[in-house]
Amino acid sequence: MGGERLILCYNGKSFPSVSVTGGRCAQMCEHCRGRHLSGMTATETLDSLLAEARRTKAFGGSGLLISGGADTGGRVPVADHADAIGRIVSEGLEVNVHAGFIDREEAERLVRSGVTRFSVDVHQDREIIRDFMHLDKEPEDYGRLIDTIREAGGIPVPHITLGFGEKDLFLSLRLLESKGMKDIIVLALVPTPGTVTEGSTMNEDAVAGAIMMMSATGFSVTLGCMRDRTLRGLEIKCIQAGARRIANPSAGTVRWAEENGFSVETDPRCCCMGI
Ligand code: SF4
Repeated sequence: MGGERLILCYNGKSFPSVSVTGGRCAQMCEHCRGRHLSGMTATETLDSLLAEARRTKAFGGSGLLISGGADTGGRVPVADHADAIGRIVSEGLEVNVHAGFIDREEAERLVRSGVTRFSVDVHQDREIIRDFMHLDKEPEDYGRLIDTIREAGGIPVPHITLGFGEKDLFLSLRLLESKGMKDIIVLALVPTPGTVTEGSTMNEDAVAGAIMMMSATGFSVTLGCMRDRTLRGLEIKCIQAGARRIANPSAGTVRWAEENGFSVETDPRCCCMGI
């Protein structure tokens, strides 16, 4: 393992996450029910979005993840803020959007405003899509979304969340393979009060095992920021399993990586930006 590169992404204040819908979400996925929006800064107006961007720049930050809650069709109204995003990019910041199911026109509008990265949550199990995500979508719609973003000139960054079962995982990997996508952001369900995940904890070895399988089959894995921080051994196990980028690692993990001969580099941005 000695000398291998390990990239540590620190996106706290230097690349904050903002929600263009505040705490509102109509999709209400079973594992989130909009709760995760409370960890983001609410920027529902053009002024508040610009103010947060300028605060980030003044602090020495490099960009924003612009996200929010979705409508019942899985669309996050990020493109409604394209003018503000254009100003943010022209002022020297980078933007990653989590826009959900958007059409070609919206994707093009976002690309024209300077967006490069589009975070895409990938699911392929029909039951998960319907019963957990509450979406009237087919598995093929995820492939179409990836194509739409690419045709508009954007870079789709696939996110795979572990905890939705093997069928969803394996079919999602097959989709990414068929699209020639090598980079994956891996997330893992977090126990969230008021949702079906409350009181359930992911198994560290199962997460690491999935990452090992992905790495062995040629994927380049990033351990993204949505994961259960109470799983103290998770980060190191995921690195041992092949993850070579990790969002917001603990100090103990950084020490371990240095002591174990990794060539550690840091990136003060959202982990999607290096992909
Ligand atoms: S669409 Fe996003 S914010 Fe809304 S419930 Fe699902 S994961 Fe949470």
